[in-house]
Amino acid sequence: MLKLSHIKSVAASVGFDLCGVVRCQNFDSDRLFLEHWLSEGYGDGLTYLERNIDKRADATKLVEGAKSVIVCAVSYKNRYSCGYPPESKNKIASYALTTDYHINIKRMLQNLCAELKQSTPTLSGRCFTDSAPIFEKRYAVEAGLGWIGRQSLLVTPQFGSFVLLGVAVVTEECDSYDAPYSGIGCAECRRCIDACPNGAIHNRHIDTRRCISRATVEKQPEHSTPLHGWIFGCDECQSCCPYNIKAPLATNPLFAPTIDPTSIDWQKMSEAEFKLHFATSPLSRTTVERIKQNID
Ligand code: SF4
Ligand code: SF4
Repeated sequence: MLKLSHIKSVAASVGFDLCGVVRCQNFDSDRLFLEHWLSEGYGDGLTYLERNIDKRADATKLVEGAKSVIVCAVSYKNRYSCGYPPESKNKIASYALTTDYHINIKRMLQNLCAELKQSTPTLSGRCFTDSAPIFEKRYAVEAGLGWIGRQSLLVTPQFGSFVLLGVAVVTEECDSYDAPYSGIGCAECRRCIDACPNGAIHNRHIDTRRCISRATVEKQPEHSTPLHGWIFGCDECQSCCPYNIKAPLATNPLFAPTIDPTSIDWQKMSEAEFKLHFATSPLSRTTVERIKQNID
């Protein structure tokens, strides 16, 4: 049996800012919503979203015998998160200016589970950070971390939406569980909807066919999308959010920027140099050729 208070103190000690624990549960309404969203074409050919939908809704299909889901979040807000100066070109989403979060968060989750195993040797399970089909944001809401904002991201009262999530799906029960988030959420605010330069935001879901982040980070779309100076990702619907504006800068040094996006001469960079410089960066998902196309 895990102890909720122990999980939270270990999560903080390995570098997470927030942690909640919730029972494994079946999110059937989210599954139905995702199926409807895909059927409307909003997925824009991102076929990975169409696979394993039943696993997304039910974590016991990912981890046999799963009982609890530990949801952790870490802030990554940095000096670029709340917007570039108006004349800026070649903008990069602020999460992509640090070491790839998959690397850092996976290590933090492994450290968390290793520590929990010390007191609960029977613990088993799997850790994910954007690496498996699971409704991470829904679990985060159920674990009390925050709510789903109108831009479809998790928003936390303390750190806004500039948080990265990691989850551990484990086979142990916990002595108690967190309650779902019950604060005011977005209330009457609609700033993110108004800020999206391509009108991609519907209330709590995105039309990815219009989204700059999808167009610059995911596989090349067949249609063109106006990029408004962004060459990898886009923070427009986050930098305007009042919760993000008042959030503190990240304190975990693993999420400090390692790139100054304003000082890179992309046109002079070869593919080999790009691979060398950005091997452990989220930018490794793209190529310098594609970045040059985005600049053009
Ligand atoms: S990432 Fe940019 S383009 Fe996509 S929904 Fe947000 S503001 Fe709109
Ligand atoms: S900008 Fe406003 S509407 Fe959008 S997520 Fe933030 S609080 Fe919610």
